Amino acid sequence: MQPLIDEARTFPARAAAHRVDLGPHTTRVTPKAMFIACSDAHVVPALITGSRTGDLYELRTYGGRIPPYDEHEQTGEARTVEHAVDVLCVSDIVVCGHSRCGVTDALHIDSEAAPFQRAASQLHTLTQFDALSQYPCVQARLIDRTLRLHAWFYDIDAGTTARYDPRASAFLPL
Ligand SMILES: [Zn+2]
Repeated sequence: MQPLIDEARTFPARAAAHRVDLGPHTTRVTPKAMFIACSDAHVVPALITGSRTGDLYELRTYGGRIPPYDEHEQTGEARTVEHAVDVLCVSDIVVCGHSRCGVTDALHIDSEAAPFQRAASQLHTLTQFDALSQYPCVQARLIDRTLRLHAWFYDIDAGTTARYDPRASAFLPL
């Protein structure tokens, strides 16, 4: 833990040395996108997308899970999505799954062969994507054509990212 504490203490100096723009704080800036991903430490959205302070509004959960919308139970995930869509008015939401995701272990996949686990992780990603698209706030903005949804899949070994192409019914390179 101590290295993390040391880095946090020296962050202002390192940010200044590398001219990291900590962003304007007097005016509200709309993030470029909402990024929903697994909490896995190998997935670092800012690194993958080259984002800087203020660019991404993130939701990180185990397996990048987005619970089905339930009007009777307001989940933390739902509040986060609604804040991004209705308050921050983001124009794009990325649902990003990743290879070797631990959530597929919990799905009791019989085979641990890489292709099967990869397919299971991609299917899991699309399931979360579908759940997101059912949120009323999301549907309203989709109808208005003011919001775009993207399903991505990050390979943690190669560092490559693919996007889902509905016409090909497959994840294709970005
Ligand atoms: Zn994961």
